[in-house]
Amino acid sequence: MIPGGSKDGLIALRIGEITCKTLMGRSGIGSVDYAINPYLGCAHACAYCYARFMRRMGHQGERWGSFVDAKVNGLERLRAEAPRRSMGKVLLSSVTDPYQPLERKYELTRGSLELLRERQFPVSILTKSDLVLRDLDIIRKFDTIDVGFTLTAYDDAARRAFEPGASPVERRLAALRELSEEGIPTWAFIGPVLPYITEDGLEPLLDELAGCVNRVLIDRLNVKAGNMPDIRGALSEHYPDLQPLFESALKGGSVYYDGFRRKVSEMCRRRSIPFEVLY
Ligand code: SF4
Repeated sequence: MIPGGSKDGLIALRIGEITCKTLMGRSGIGSVDYAINPYLGCAHACAYCYARFMRRMGHQGERWGSFVDAKVNGLERLRAEAPRRSMGKVLLSSVTDPYQPLERKYELTRGSLELLRERQFPVSILTKSDLVLRDLDIIRKFDTIDVGFTLTAYDDAARRAFEPGASPVERRLAALRELSEEGIPTWAFIGPVLPYITEDGLEPLLDELAGCVNRVLIDRLNVKAGNMPDIRGALSEHYPDLQPLFESALKGGSVYYDGFRRKVSEMCRRRSIPFEVLY
């Protein structure tokens, strides 16, 4: 057992090594053709994470964020699979973070990028970690690649409450700036929008993003995959006064999120940021 996450939201992390039958799977997400998930589980331990349904793969009943399994034969599988796959866009990743701390040791994401680059598969990276900068040398060599960062709030206190293992907000923004300066297409995913918390600091967050992303995607928070107990836990520990309002925004139909859509749309337009609200 080693400590996972950040020193703020410490969760003991159990690391495992597993083998997989396939690494480059067909994706059900509309804008991409394949997804590569080099790890099972995620040490970023986001309270709202929808990927916690992955616990059914041998981790039933375990706390989300308390285990990560590295797919140690993943690169061997990908080396065999990639030449057989028709050309299509690959997402890294859909149910784990490709640059969570364990990637420093296993380099499965880096190895995947190297193999995908050999055949010039178009790639989209989505992460909450500035470890992605380590792989700039490979990222630069792709014909088609983009890097997205998830940002749910501007205030790092929200990161400590809801995404304890992910990079601090300022480091994510700095990474976006660096990637953009390198000429890599970048985007931000503002989501899931946490009622009142995301809204607080939205103006300065968009000010920062205006200069360094090509577009912003926005999505609401959905209660699913059993994420509500962890959301409640984060709220009661870090935002007890906000908890009733937060929960009523989730239960109150679309009223809160309709208002948020209007606000964020106007703010993005004012800054000429291309955006899409996904809900
Ligand atoms: S970084 Fe993504 S996959 Fe990892 S816990 Fe957070 S939401 Fe889930």
